[in-house]
Amino acid sequence: MPELPEVETTRRGIESTVVERAIERVIVREPRLRWRVPGDLAETLVGQRVQALSRRAKYLLFAMRHGTLIVHLGMSGSLRILPATTPPLTHDHLDIVLDSGLCLRFNDPRRFGCVLWTDADAELHPLLRDLGPEPLSEQFNGAALARAARGRRIAIKQLLMNSSVVVGVGNIYASEALFRAGIRPRRAAGRLKLAEFDALAKSIKQVLREAIRSGGTTLRDYVNADGMPGYFRQKLFVYERAGEPCRVCKTPIQHFVQGQRSTYFCRSCQR
Ligand SMILES: [Zn+2]
Repeated sequence: MPELPEVETTRRGIESTVVERAIERVIVREPRLRWRVPGDLAETLVGQRVQALSRRAKYLLFAMRHGTLIVHLGMSGSLRILPATTPPLTHDHLDIVLDSGLCLRFNDPRRFGCVLWTDADAELHPLLRDLGPEPLSEQFNGAALARAARGRRIAIKQLLMNSSVVVGVGNIYASEALFRAGIRPRRAAGRLKLAEFDALAKSIKQVLREAIRSGGTTLRDYVNADGMPGYFRQKLFVYERAGEPCRVCKTPIQHFVQGQRSTYFCRSCQR
């Protein structure tokens, strides 16, 4: 599943190609995504110019004069830049053809992604308005985590994956950040010390920055805007390494299922 680093990598990969470009044509081959692609999307977009491309959580926001195009990659989506004449492949559900002759092509085998339009402020859209702080922003730090965790018995890993606490910390990055901070994933969130929240917030930022720098994590069908896989996988300490020796202390990495998600940790490095 594309996580925050993959989405940010996509944003950076396509930004210079789409910003300032006018939309000439929109081709919808399959409107049945997670939510149906609006029937009048072409009518809305054609003739508009992309003013900026930003990201909020895992949503890509294409700001235009009359509103914002909201794109989510879901479980298996990707966006690529191609010459508009490139024949579409299976699962190439939508093209946004630019006045440069290139097109932005949305591919999504599992169709959990979405392509939506809003005339209003995108931040107030129902999908975005209740989201917590961005993990790489200043508002997100140890104190903010401690506030969100106060009095709560929920496991710390599950708290991190709650998008009203902080956005974009999915399973991989929650596991990796907990390892780096030396904290076991099952500990009750409300029982952590402030120093631990500080270490954890720092680890989250660090692991996400490193992943963005290496272009995201290679996971099955994820490819970035150029069609190249990310290289962060080689740097993972615990994720999907059950039974393999810890890269720090050689203890075999433990695995268990937590909230229906796989969790990995080192019982010697994490307390
Ligand atoms: Zn270890």
